[in-house]
Amino acid sequence: ESRLAFVEQAPPDPILGVSEAFKRDTSDDRLNLGVGAYRTNDLKPYVLNVVKKAEKIMIESEENKEYLPIEGLAAFNKATAQLLLGEGHPAIKEERVATLQSLSGTGSLRVGADFIGKFLPGRTVYLSNPTWGNHKNIFTDAGVEWKEYRYFDKATVGLAFEGMLEDLKAAPEGSIVVLHGCAHNPTGVDPTREQWGAIADVVEQKGHMPFFDVAYQGFASGSLDDDAWAPRFFAERSIEMMVAQSYSKNLGLYAERVGAINYVLADAAAAKRVLSQNKRIARALYSNPPVHGARIASIVVGRPELFAEWNEEMGMMAGRIKDVRQTLYDELVKNNPDKDWSFVTRQIGMFSFTGLSPPQVENMTQKHHVYMTKDGRISLAGLPSNKAANLASAIVDSFK
Ligand code: PMP
Repeated sequence: ESRLAFVEQAPPDPILGVSEAFKRDTSDDRLNLGVGAYRTNDLKPYVLNVVKKAEKIMIESEENKEYLPIEGLAAFNKATAQLLLGEGHPAIKEERVATLQSLSGTGSLRVGADFIGKFLPGRTVYLSNPTWGNHKNIFTDAGVEWKEYRYFDKATVGLAFEGMLEDLKAAPEGSIVVLHGCAHNPTGVDPTREQWGAIADVVEQKGHMPFFDVAYQGFASGSLDDDAWAPRFFAERSIEMMVAQSYSKNLGLYAERVGAINYVLADAAAAKRVLSQNKRIARALYSNPPVHGARIASIVVGRPELFAEWNEEMGMMAGRIKDVRQTLYDELVKNNPDKDWSFVTRQIGMFSFTGLSPPQVENMTQKHHVYMTKDGRISLAGLPSNKAANLASAIVDSFK
């Protein structure tokens, strides 16, 4: 018998496990609305044209495969901070931003979590309830204590704004508050700009450290600027913050693992020291980040014609999701005009948080072959417009 025989089976990942179950279903009606990856209307994975063009440029210039520095590709780090804060932002000019290229959003969050564990010991991280499930794994594995703040109000299918403020006020001073930059996952519910103002007030009063998770910049609304409004607003107010970025969605670089962890700080000396400690963390975790996707991103951002084309492609992807969201809404209303479905079109980003309970989700899957996460989240990216009517009738049936 193995000396590791005592090791128990880990539970399947609640999000990635959905795709496994989907693959085993042979029905023609099956729909995989579990995983958050963009699909064309024919349900094909989509490689952006700008990515293909950047890769062509890279092959032609015969780039080598030498190690990157621990902090990543300089051109990428410069570009990513600019995309986040806006070109020519004073924090960048004053060198108050520490940026380390890391392994997409997840790896960047993990480096940030390890930094918190090392340099802000005893601080509690506050996560929205609900949040992207992996947040909990990331902070748990980094040995950082986390709690939740109220975020979603079932009754209104909207933001639990008062509850959120109360919980952030009640948190000990100097806590870390994880905020979704835009297109909150899984709810699709974002604070309004006015509400962000009140959140920033509390964060400031309590000396909390915001930790923005920016996984959908440009992908939610189609505009890089609009989707970065919240972290830019905090930067404008000179609130020090951490920001994890991902290029999985907006550049479609899921498997290339392109992202960064940024610290927007009060002065350049602190930023320099913080960067050095993040390098120390990354060195032990994975030594240095992969180069391919970082080159793609820096070429796309650095060439005006490619940058313009990227913005168009983001607009196209965001547009398809908005269209299919509207189609689903129309079909739901047609199917059951007595229920208020307006939450579907109020939510933004890739997901719709339906409010279906776990047994109702079970009905969606067992009876209707619709695969989705147990929390009632569906990815609209996996919905072709000609299946919206089927999905609507499955949802209406499951709510019965
Ligand atoms: N944060 C949130 C809220 C996400 O939805 C995702 C993608 N599912 C990520 C971070 C990170 O994804 P990745 O590691 O692929 O960049």
